[in-house]
Amino acid sequence: MPRVGFFTDTSVCIGCKACEVACKEWNAVPTKGALELTGESFDNTSELSADSWRHVAFIEQQVQTPSENGPQEGVRWLMSSDVCKHCTHSACLDVCPTGSLFRTEFGTVVVQQDICNGCGYCVSACPYGVIAQREDDGRVFKCTMCYDRLKVGSEPACAQACPTQSIQFGDLDELRERAQTRVEELHAAGQDKARLYGESPDDGVGGAGAFFLLLDEPEVYGLPPDPIVTTRDLGAMWRRVGAAGAALLAGVAAAYLSDRG
Ligand code: SF4
Ligand code: SF4
Repeated sequence: MPRVGFFTDTSVCIGCKACEVACKEWNAVPTKGALELTGESFDNTSELSADSWRHVAFIEQQVQTPSENGPQEGVRWLMSSDVCKHCTHSACLDVCPTGSLFRTEFGTVVVQQDICNGCGYCVSACPYGVIAQREDDGRVFKCTMCYDRLKVGSEPACAQACPTQSIQFGDLDELRERAQTRVEELHAAGQDKARLYGESPDDGVGGAGAFFLLLDEPEVYGLPPDPIVTTRDLGAMWRRVGAAGAALLAGVAAAYLSDRG
């Protein structure tokens, strides 16, 4: 089965939050606090959390805009709908001790709440700060890429609700080709800073299953510029621990034998 994913083209996001609403409605995600303003611009969600599996960031920037009298100070809004990256190398999945997190037949990463024990190891392992615990019992929640909908051949609720096709769902390889064409169009139109984020299989997480076209540096959107799977060195660490343990045992044995001799 081909791997599926999201290409989020932030250049056409209008900040309507239809994706956030559709996600909450389809997945019965609690709405507690969802209608309160944070005081941080028009953003009332603030960040991805156990109760916000999509988050539309609003970023206000001072920019120079052309006018008859030369460049003038102006303002532009960058909007971007963030989500779990469904990483190729998923640290959350690597550290889960119960098998609650698993890789689906679609290449996505899903949590099974009924066997999550609330240990929270995955929370500190995620290089994007995506997965989070609920306050009541500590179990973790995040985007499932609407696993139940994929299984019956439907697209995820957020992608279906997006009125501008900023959120595009489909075969990951096809999405990567589409994204490359789009970024070239934007460069030709003078958007020099347009770039793809998370699309490369050579990046620190082996490529994201949910990648983005951004109009500025990733940090501007609150995204890490060079994410690396946090379990990358785990194998080497255990090998060193094993070697140190073996050396210690050999030393103890040698001391014991020399005492007896
Ligand atoms: S973004 Fe975080 S929670 Fe999502 S698959 Fe990657 S490591 Fe796991
Ligand atoms: S894919 Fe489904 S679970 Fe994930 S953000 Fe979209 S609506 Fe929510």
